[in-house]
Amino acid sequence: MRNTIREIDVQLVREAVKEMCIEANYGLSEDMRTRLQDAAQKETSELGRGILHQLEENLAIAAKDQIPICQDTGMATVFLDIGQDVHFIGGALELAVNEGVHDGYTEGYLRKSVVGDPLLRKNTKDNTPAIIHYAIVPGDQVTITVAPKGFGSENKSRLFMLTPADGEQGVIDAVLETVHAAGPNACPPLVIGVGIGGNFEKCAEMAKRALTLDTREHSGLPHICALEETLLEKINETGIGPAGLGGSVTAMAVRILTYPTHIAGLPVAVNVCCHVNRHRVRIL
Ligand code: SF4
Repeated sequence: MRNTIREIDVQLVREAVKEMCIEANYGLSEDMRTRLQDAAQKETSELGRGILHQLEENLAIAAKDQIPICQDTGMATVFLDIGQDVHFIGGALELAVNEGVHDGYTEGYLRKSVVGDPLLRKNTKDNTPAIIHYAIVPGDQVTITVAPKGFGSENKSRLFMLTPADGEQGVIDAVLETVHAAGPNACPPLVIGVGIGGNFEKCAEMAKRALTLDTREHSGLPHICALEETLLEKINETGIGPAGLGGSVTAMAVRILTYPTHIAGLPVAVNVCCHVNRHRVRIL
């Protein structure tokens, strides 16, 4: 029996990526709005609460005036989970994604922050290319996740090649070391994405993808769910607080993804994100 192949025009991908770049930069996702409201209620420091209210005010102004929620509109990370029964028509998929980023950053008047060569550093002037992660999944749909990420927080991210003997405590220490080193510079309150397992590059990709998960939820794996809660508690005990000015809410969420790994290693990646934690998801 032959499966039916579904054709999807890459122009739909281009249009979706354009709209998602703009939407993600103009307003928080629903889960992050909830997290920020919770943070304002939980924060015990008056100064911290004041900062959180200012952030909420900033979001309201951005929504009213249709302007970006932060001046650093980020480098666009795009996850494409492609159903194996999909056939793209109308052009090259990767080109369409980058054209979508070009359109979004141009039409949305978003800051162009990408340089074409990491050493020569000439701005590409349209925020391309995106960082694109492809996955082939069952089915005939395409799930697009667009996550523009500023480098104030990206620069504070770390990767640790731990040993198996380091165990869970080693993971906790790695995350806390990263948060302490970030201090006020990653615009707290933070969201922390953690990748555990796999190998060098796999754990980094998982940490990035973990930031796009719903921050109101927890891992379905009981021990990882418990670790997400433990880490959030310990991060908030650091007292770094909103904007690094002290307080009880240093992070609003910790999300973790895991993957099998080698008997000789325990790779851990910690992707630090600021309070905007931009992401949008669409299914074609
Ligand atoms: S870390 Fe986040 S809030 Fe701070 S400047 Fe960068 S994008 Fe903006």
